[in-house]
Amino acid sequence: LQSKLPNVGTTIFTVMSALAAEKGAVNLGQGFPDFDCDPALVDAVTAAMKQGLNQYPPMAGVPVLREAIAAKIDALYAHAYDAATEITVTAGATQAILTAILCSVRAGDEVIVIEPAYDSYVPAIELSGGTPVFVQMEVGPDGYSVPWTKVAAAVTDRTRLIMINSPHNPTGSVLRAADLEALAAIVRGTGILIISDEVYEHMVYDAVRHESVCRHPELAARSFVISSFGKTYHVTGWKVGYVAAPAPLSAEFRKVHQFNVFTVNTPVQHALARYMSDPAPYLELPAFYQRKRDLFRAGLASTRFKLLPSDGTYFQCVDYSGISDMAEADFAKWLTAEIGVAAIPVSAFYHRPHESGIVRFCFAKRDETLHRALERLATL
Ligand code: PMP
Ligand code: GLN
Repeated sequence: LQSKLPNVGTTIFTVMSALAAEKGAVNLGQGFPDFDCDPALVDAVTAAMKQGLNQYPPMAGVPVLREAIAAKIDALYAHAYDAATEITVTAGATQAILTAILCSVRAGDEVIVIEPAYDSYVPAIELSGGTPVFVQMEVGPDGYSVPWTKVAAAVTDRTRLIMINSPHNPTGSVLRAADLEALAAIVRGTGILIISDEVYEHMVYDAVRHESVCRHPELAARSFVISSFGKTYHVTGWKVGYVAAPAPLSAEFRKVHQFNVFTVNTPVQHALARYMSDPAPYLELPAFYQRKRDLFRAGLASTRFKLLPSDGTYFQCVDYSGISDMAEADFAKWLTAEIGVAAIPVSAFYHRPHESGIVRFCFAKRDETLHRALERLATL
C-alpha cells in the first residue's frame, strides 16, 4: 500500500510516554492530568447508564448537551449559537479538527498553519488533499507571538482556511483582542474560513482573558470553534468535545461527521450535560492550574532552565541552552533517561527541522509529582 501519510510516524506524545514508563521517569511529557476527575462526574455516567441511556443518541449529540454547550458559550462569550443546528458533539477535539478540515478543504486548497502547531493539523490537511502553508511564530522576551503581517503575506487566492489555537499548545501563549482584530482584517472580504482550536479555553492565568473567536461576531461567522471536555474536566480519555459553527458550516460538518463516527457515547454526553449545569468546575480551573503553574515555575526558577511565559494551557516551556547544546529531541530523551523527567521537544511541532533549545513540560500533575520532578531537575 502506498502510504497517504508517508511522513507520519508514532506521535511524539506516545513515544515520550513509552520512554518515561520504560525509564521510570516522572512523565511531564504528554499532556494529561495524573489526578482523577470529580467523582460526581463518574457517578453521573453510571446514573445515565442505569437509567437506560445506552443506545444511539441523535447524530449531532444529545439535545440536552448541545443546549448546555450553547448556553455556556452564550454566558461566557455572548454569542448565541442555535443548539439544534450549530453545535455538534464530537469524539474529542481531534475528530472535530479532522472533520472540520475534511468538510471544507479540497484538493489544491491551501491551509495556513501557524507553527509550532499541534501535531494533528497537518496530517488532517494532507488527508483532505490540501496543502499546508506555514507561518512561524516569533519568540521574543515576552515569549511567542503570531506575526500577522506574515500571515497576511501567506494568503493567496487558494487559501481556504486559517488554523488558530489559543491558549496555545505547546507555547502557552494566548491571543489577545488585538490578535483577533489583525486576523479579522486579513480575512475580511475573502471566503477564508477559520478553525479556532480552543481546547484550553479555561486555562488562562494572571487575569488574562481568553479571547474566544465566539466573542468576535465577524470571525465567528466564518469559524469552526472547537473545544474538548477532556481538558476542562480532567477526563482526556473520555474523548468528547464539540464544534460550534454557523448553520451552513455545521450542516457540511455533520455530513462528514455522520459517516465518520456517526455519533458519540450516549451516557457520557448525558453525564456531561448534567455536570455542566454547575459552572463552578470550569470557573475554578484558572485558579486551580495557576497555583500549579506557579509552584512549578518557582521550583524551576532556581535551576539553570530559562522560563518562557506561560499565560495559558497546562504547559510550561523552558529554554535549556544554558545546560546543553543537544538537539531538542535528543535532550528530551536524555532528560527522560538520565535525569528521570520526561518532556516534549518543541521541534516536534514543526514540519521541518527547527531547533530553538526549548522543551515543553506539562504541569497538570499532583503537587507531589511536580515536587519529584523539580528535585530531579535541580540536579542539572
Ligand atoms: N488541540 C490541541 C491544541 C490539543 O492540545 C489537544 C490535546 N492534546 C487536542 C486538540 C485534542 O483534544 P482531544 O483529546 O479532545 O481530542
Ligand atoms: N494533546 C496532548 C499533548 O499535547 C497529547 C494528546 C495525544 O497524545 N495525542 O500533550
